[in-house]
Amino acid sequence: MSDSSCDSISNSIMMTCFCGELTRCFTPRTPLNLVRRFYRCSKSKIENCEFWRWEDKSSENSSIEANLLMSKLEVATLKMENLRESLNAVKIERDNLKKKLENLESLNYFEVNKLRNLKAKVPKLKM
Ligand SMILES: [Zn+2]
Repeated sequence: MSDSSCDSISNSIMMTCFCGELTRCFTPRTPLNLVRRFYRCSKSKIENCEFWRWEDKSSENSSIEANLLMSKLEVATLKMENLRESLNAVKIERDNLKKKLENLESLNYFEVNKLRNLKAKVPKLKM
């Protein structure tokens, strides 16, 4: 997960983490959490106390919303996969039909030639 520091510490409540340091504010870049920021320990990954908190207090509502969006996303992904499979089936059918058409065309060409040859022979037979 990639995230970036907030550019402004504007109205933020200054939170302190478990180790007593001021937390840093981050903005996640995931599509589901576009606006929501979170705070976490400002120390490096190895040293930090694993403090982590959403910026707002409506985190419960937001997580329900996020879950809803997530399941919608899953449904949409499934639909897309189904459509992709149908598309592949249609493509295979199209290729098969194309081959059949080519066979029929060459067969037709062959028959037309045969007919032409027979027609050419007819006047000679009458004589
Ligand atoms: Zn800390």
